[in-house]
Amino acid sequence: MAKKRPRLTRKRGWSLGQKLWKEFMEGRVYECIITHPSRYVYGAQIGKDVFVDPRTSVLTVLLHELLHRLQPNWSEARVHRESKHALACMSEEEKTDWWLAYEMLKRNHKSVKLKKGD
Ligand SMILES: [Zn+2]
Repeated sequence: MAKKRPRLTRKRGWSLGQKLWKEFMEGRVYECIITHPSRYVYGAQIGKDVFVDPRTSVLTVLLHELLHRLQPNWSEARVHRESKHALACMSEEEKTDWWLAYEMLKRNHKSVKLKKGD
């Protein structure tokens, strides 16, 4: 069965957001592993193709939140700094191992509502 194409919604107030949605609906968006010899990348745009490496963005968030759990007394700034450092220290193979483990361990949750100050 073909995937249902998302409907282009008319959102008010942010014209760049509407233009981005229209651009997104053009397709040619690919999820894949992207490597770079000296830095980690979240994505790349080559010609009309957009590539997204989910490992980088997911691991950025995952390492950050795991550090909060592991070191509850650390400040937000320290957790942010240490999680960025941890990701920068990972080899491509380690990132892929973490990504595969995340794919195995993650469980879906309907939603989490945070309050102001959380
Ligand atoms: Zn945080």
